[in-house]
Amino acid sequence: MTDSTTATPTATDSPTTGPREVRLVSRPVGWPTHEDFEVVESRLPDLHEGQVRVRNTVMSVDPYMRGRMSAAKSYADPYALGEAMTGGAVGVVEESRADGLAVGDHVLHGFGWREVAVLDATAGRKVDPVAPDSAYLGVLGMTGLTAYVGLTRIAQVAPGDVVFVSGAAGAVGSAVGQIARALGASRVIGSAGSPEKVRHVVEDLGFDAAFDYKAGPVSQQLREAAPDGIDVYFDNVGGEHLEAAIGSLRLGGRVAVCGMISVYNDTQASPGPRNLARLIQTRGRIQGFLVGDHYDLSGEYAGRAAGWLASGELQSRETFVDGIDHAVDAFLGVLRGENTGKMVVRL
Ligand code: NDP
Repeated sequence: MTDSTTATPTATDSPTTGPREVRLVSRPVGWPTHEDFEVVESRLPDLHEGQVRVRNTVMSVDPYMRGRMSAAKSYADPYALGEAMTGGAVGVVEESRADGLAVGDHVLHGFGWREVAVLDATAGRKVDPVAPDSAYLGVLGMTGLTAYVGLTRIAQVAPGDVVFVSGAAGAVGSAVGQIARALGASRVIGSAGSPEKVRHVVEDLGFDAAFDYKAGPVSQQLREAAPDGIDVYFDNVGGEHLEAAIGSLRLGGRVAVCGMISVYNDTQASPGPRNLARLIQTRGRIQGFLVGDHYDLSGEYAGRAAGWLASGELQSRETFVDGIDHAVDAFLGVLRGENTGKMVVRL
């Protein structure tokens, strides 16, 4: 912990102490552990013209953050060692020196992993408090949009398609199955990591079929759930699932590669799917995507999601963990599958 007694804040010399943040202190090799992080008091900078101070109410923990904990340069820069990590968060403006954001406004921004953030108002977006703050991290936010982008722009799902999604009880996957149905899929199949999750996606979310990928070979369980094959596979996990899905593709099948959580903690690359030749027979297509390239669809998605939420076609579940002291637990929990729906840290 940092020394909280060092500075008494004044009006001119005002780094203040108090609110806490989570810093990365070492780069995990394999599975992250608590020793890779520390929760410390933060020193807030002065509020400059155009900035707001936001007390976060909720913050997101996401699988992609595992990649940013490694040094390898990817589509997002690695987190710096010894500094607070970043990520999606929603909070309430406590102080404003910016036009357009007033005290009391709820703001979505990228300075999670901390209790209080000082940010340029242009780096935040005011959200409608009619929905709970957590919804803007999940079904009305990044993970909901990811589902929509992957289905519509990447997999180009069409009425009548048979759609298979892995990670079906998670934030993205649960939205994928329901949105696919709303877009006219004839059959929606999911896989998840426990009997409770399988029950949830079928009974609560209306999937036609689901299976526990830990209970037997994925290829066999998928063939049983989709005896005539699949048109779309929305991949959240990679590995055995991807090979199984390619093996079940029908003519003109599409695979949207969204994530590969099954390999995020691997220290050695595993072999890829052994059946890519099947893409020749099926004229199949595999395409990866990043939601960040498709924010032009945000408005369209927000409108449609509001309608689906109102009609009940789209339901969202969240798993809450309370307190910044437990944010790392929440993050590790996502990697281990402890969440149903969006994992959210309440601050
Ligand atoms: P989830 O809410 O789905 O949480 C992750 C889930 O992954 C866990 O709950 C767990 O569920 C499952 N999981 C963990 N390990 C394995 C494994 N070895 N095999 C199969 N499933 C596993 O997370 P998100 O919805 O936020 O993200 C889902 C995927 O989408 C991730 O791969 C993520 O990186 C990716 N993503 C990609 C984006 C993009 O722009 N391309 C944007 C957002 C997310 P279970 O109990 O079922 O195992």
